[in-house]
Amino acid sequence: MRRVLFAAMLASLAYCPAASAAPRSDCHAQATRDLQRLSPQGHAIYSAMTDKKLFFTWIGCDDVQLGLSTAVHESVHILTEKNDGFLLIDGGLVRRPHEVSKFFPPKEIAGRFERDDIYVKTYLLPGAASSADDFLYLLDELNAYSHDLSSAVKLVPLHKPGNGEVAHRDGLSALMSFVMSYVDAAREKKPATWSGLQRPEPRKALQTLWGQAETALASSCTQPAFGRKDHVYIGFMCEAKNNRALSELLGRAPACPRDCLSPGTAALR
Ligand SMILES: [Zn+2]
Repeated sequence: MRRVLFAAMLASLAYCPAASAAPRSDCHAQATRDLQRLSPQGHAIYSAMTDKKLFFTWIGCDDVQLGLSTAVHESVHILTEKNDGFLLIDGGLVRRPHEVSKFFPPKEIAGRFERDDIYVKTYLLPGAASSADDFLYLLDELNAYSHDLSSAVKLVPLHKPGNGEVAHRDGLSALMSFVMSYVDAAREKKPATWSGLQRPEPRKALQTLWGQAETALASSCTQPAFGRKDHVYIGFMCEAKNNRALSELLGRAPACPRDCLSPGTAALR
């Protein structure tokens, strides 16, 4: 999913003088040390990767913060396949609930969102990523974007003004709104999926991944420049009518990260 991630990342750049620069690798040793120093959880993902060269393919030296968070995101996908489980930011592992692959395809909720939205195009429209056809991969993206944003926040000290601003928060907030909308659609008109979501394994996985996503999202609200369309997705999540089904599955109302929508945050948009 590297291609689609980069497409989304590039689309979310306000200004990217480095986008067409030739690849460099001279920063990789220092980048690894910085990852260990600033984000031990991200470094744990690097450590778990057998193929270190593959990890570095996602790191351009012009924007190490973006490169490292992207490398962590993509490595999480690889390790999820390898372990048949979602690696959590705190080091835990949730077994992949394969029964969710029989649920209705997430592409059926694409119409609830703007069709030309880059994340809708990438993750929900037919012919895009696996997540359009299989809820298991929507959960996979939810987890990968949680790692991605969590790392990007911790790696802020590596940001250079010349790199421009990257909307690191947009991806996770988009995926969270997709998952919320999916379970809402299930409750409304897909009884088999709604019933399946309440079975122990899918429900537990959703609860764990959602809680982790909430924590990662909230940790980013101190970074006003991290969002461009995030206020749209977060606004969607914070509307009570959109989160009733998810509330039932979580056993509580999902958190609304109002700090991400504060005037100080919005002022930079
Ligand atoms: Zn991904």
